[in-house]
Amino acid sequence: MARREAPAAGPGSRALIVDVIRSAASISRVELAGLTGLTQPSISNIVRDLIADGIIHEVGSADSVRGKPRKLIAIKPANRFGIGFHLGPDTLTCVAVDLTGGVVGREVVPRPPADQLAGQFDDFTAGLDLPRGRIEGLAIVAPTPYPSGAPSEDLHTLRATLTERLGLPVMVENDAAAAALGEFWSRRVSREQAFGCIYLGTGIGAGFVFGGALFRGASFDAGELGHMSIAYDGRECPCGNQGCVERYASMAAVVADASVPVNGTSLSSAYDTVARAAVTGDATAFQILDRAAGHLAVAATSMVNLLDLGRVVLTGPGAALAGSIYARRLRTHLERTAHSRRRHPVLVELSAQPRDAASIGAAALVVQAAVAPGHTPGPAS
Ligand SMILES: [Zn+2]
Repeated sequence: MARREAPAAGPGSRALIVDVIRSAASISRVELAGLTGLTQPSISNIVRDLIADGIIHEVGSADSVRGKPRKLIAIKPANRFGIGFHLGPDTLTCVAVDLTGGVVGREVVPRPPADQLAGQFDDFTAGLDLPRGRIEGLAIVAPTPYPSGAPSEDLHTLRATLTERLGLPVMVENDAAAAALGEFWSRRVSREQAFGCIYLGTGIGAGFVFGGALFRGASFDAGELGHMSIAYDGRECPCGNQGCVERYASMAAVVADASVPVNGTSLSSAYDTVARAAVTGDATAFQILDRAAGHLAVAATSMVNLLDLGRVVLTGPGAALAGSIYARRLRTHLERTAHSRRRHPVLVELSAQPRDAASIGAAALVVQAAVAPGHTPGPAS
């Protein structure tokens, strides 16, 4: 990690310190000063406040070069919790995470009508025996509706109603952005890393975390990877462009290429049928997914080059069964084509919980807003 210019201690310093402790797992005050460039007195004050607030705790000592043991500090996981709800087409996934992003509870229920979400929140948190005073809030994620860039008006109305009813902060976010923040938080990615996430869901989305904060763009529409064109005169797309990668590499494109009937079944189960066949030896199914992955790799290279990303995580329901096919294509393509390949590697990793990534990320958004504020959540939160 590069040493920073000595910043003045302020609200951003607290977020910086939480972020550095989180990504280091455990760290001494001396190392914190070295990594943040903040002065020892600033570090001591902020660390004391964070301990008093129950966000971090001392976890033991490490030997120092001069013989005096250094006390190590770490995030205190089980003291506060964030709740994430992911609204799928038919289901609602509810997740609770602790301050490290670790999942402490999960439930999938048939999607209730909007006016029953508050009741579902009460049932879910009561079932986990989470005291209300330790819950930092709720974030609700859904796919970005086309053509609006921002989460829909309905979600904003829902957010206002729920904030009032629950008496807690309620945020809304799109699935890909939330998933990126969740992977960033739980993988302990350093805030120095240019981090990206590709979310294979209903469409293809991307999320970016720069300097520890989600990058949202001018109108919360950053990360529309699915509508990056890979062919000047390619397939027509409802967005108005041609050759959008979503028309070649999304779950819907794979199902269409495989001619799997979707009648009476959901898109995701039709896709899973193809993905399961591909990873268990069906040559035709494998070719269809491998070709989709090849198309995605072309778009991924453009994304990596535009933003000089150092690490990309593949996630979302489309990466659950066939993620290895996509990851292999992306790795080999980036090794050959990434503009930065001689300066630094571009890591491509698979999410450990691709189906739950958006709900886990939603809960992580709540945790980050609570313990490392100052990441400009913006108008949607
Ligand atoms: Zn498009």
